[in-house]
Amino acid sequence: MHRYQGIVQLDGASLEEIARNYFRQSEQLPTELRLAVGRQSLRGADGQMHRSWRAGGVLVQFLPEAPERMRAPDLHPGEVPEGAVVDEVEDDDAWAEVKALVGTVDDDELVDEAVGVHALLYRLFHERGVRVYDPQDVREQCTCSRDRVRAVLASLSDEDRAEAAQDGTIAIKCEFCSTVYEFDKDDTGQSEAG
Ligand SMILES: [Zn+2]
Repeated sequence: MHRYQGIVQLDGASLEEIARNYFRQSEQLPTELRLAVGRQSLRGADGQMHRSWRAGGVLVQFLPEAPERMRAPDLHPGEVPEGAVVDEVEDDDAWAEVKALVGTVDDDELVDEAVGVHALLYRLFHERGVRVYDPQDVREQCTCSRDRVRAVLASLSDEDRAEAAQDGTIAIKCEFCSTVYEFDKDDTGQSEAG
């Protein structure tokens, strides 16, 4: 239900740094990433040159099941979370190798359409073998819904609901997508659940 914390501090000078800090502090999975943004001139369908922004990135991460997940060397000193399993596993150079390889990625390789993701993956990982999965479109969506918010309200006590109401209306804002759900105070009782 709550895999990710809703609010994460923007901590860092660049988006890349902020994202890296997020993964270190919130996910606590060894993660390495590179992000780049560049402006390109491309010839459009009308034959004219158009300037457009293009962004690219690469993210590598241990799968959560990997036994090396909480290896001490991946955590910064003083950051070993309480209860973390720091496995004593035989050293596998794969992670160190991946980090070193990702460190060689130039901004140009991430934003230049002519390089392409397949060529980049091949350059980086051909010695280990690369398998490319079908691409998935990025969509902006949130799992919140009016029914879910109503169910949360229905689970509150009458007193809590009365306290949340202003002028007979309860307004709940989803902190992920900023959608505001408004309910009539009398429309959120137990009878609505299910
Ligand atoms: Zn939402």
